[in-house]
Amino acid sequence: MPFDVKNTTLRIISDLLCPHYCSLCGKIGSILCDCCKNNLCSDHTNQCLSCGSPIYDQCPACPLPFSNQWTFSFGDNQIRAMIDQYKYHSVRAYSDAFASLISSILPKLPQDTIIIPVPTIQRHVRERGFDHTLLIAKQLARIQRLSCEAIIGRAKNTIQVGAAKQLRINQAKAAYKIITQPTPETHYLIIDDVWTTGSSICSICNLLKKAGAHHLMVAVLARSGTPDTTLLSHRQLH
Ligand SMILES: [Zn+2]
Ligand SMILES: [Zn+2]
Repeated sequence: MPFDVKNTTLRIISDLLCPHYCSLCGKIGSILCDCCKNNLCSDHTNQCLSCGSPIYDQCPACPLPFSNQWTFSFGDNQIRAMIDQYKYHSVRAYSDAFASLISSILPKLPQDTIIIPVPTIQRHVRERGFDHTLLIAKQLARIQRLSCEAIIGRAKNTIQVGAAKQLRINQAKAAYKIITQPTPETHYLIIDDVWTTGSSICSICNLLKKAGAHHLMVAVLARSGTPDTTLLSHRQLH
């Protein structure tokens, strides 16, 4: 595809002119070198986004509006620092590394899987100069040889950062709209960088389900905060 060739060529030229340094070890070449990426991947254990229990892809304890879930990092400060650099300091090069980290934890997905990025507020896209979740979703689709579609859009420009939990849940319910009608037989993988309260992803999944989608999966790079220890200890007791 000419567009991809152009993008790849531009990236090669830009890497030659302004090479990246690994943000963890400082090695020249890329923003996250293969060695540091492998170290991060070897530490990975999948955990439930809601309660923090170690899981394979589903949590038997938490009623969530999706059937499979994967998260790369659970409170890892290095990953959180990289996400902050990506989002708040517009270090666009992290998108490749993040997509590759998410890809490393996914099993072989059905061929018809469509990757859906959680839509970003337009003001944030303008401020950063790019849509951070869309970039990760596109890179992930390229790695996994799947398609990426913005099936969900923003209905209102509500701000999530810093909002209290109940306010975030109420905002999220009204924040999204369906752009393209989903189909019951298609598999959908919703992508986000960080799971905080889960209000955005759960609202999107509920919207998709209402519109007829049956197969919903979720993958996020990091879960913020600490596990819900009440639920965790409850599960360990049983
Ligand atoms: Zn490194
Ligand atoms: Zn759980």
